[in-house]
Amino acid sequence: MPRRFERSARVVLVQGQGGVMAGGEARPVELNLSRHKDLRIKWSDGSESVIDLVALRKACPCATCRAEREDRAKNPLAVRSADVREEDMVVVEDAEVVGHYGLKVRWKDGHDTGIYDFALLRELG
Ligand SMILES: [Zn+2]
Repeated sequence: MPRRFERSARVVLVQGQGGVMAGGEARPVELNLSRHKDLRIKWSDGSESVIDLVALRKACPCATCRAEREDRAKNPLAVRSADVREEDMVVVEDAEVVGHYGLKVRWKDGHDTGIYDFALLRELG
């Protein structure tokens, strides 16, 4: 069962044991998510990442968002669907760690198909 964040303004997940993953990659030992602001990650190698939620949403790795980004690159004037409030796109409703490789984020606008693998989070931070 994935561990779920509690429903509070700030959610923290501590994974405990340090060390590195099989590939020699650092992994998160602590994830600290501020629903309206940023995601802070402490890595097993002692470094720390701070990722703004706007940047996190922009980097959503799901197929839908990737296609949308490509469309926008081709046609910067494309109109976005009007039924989504932009401020809801950068507020996190819930998040959970998926397996040993990533973080699934559910945004306030209902979007929840993106799973950020730890390597991506590391890049963003
Ligand atoms: Zn997405």
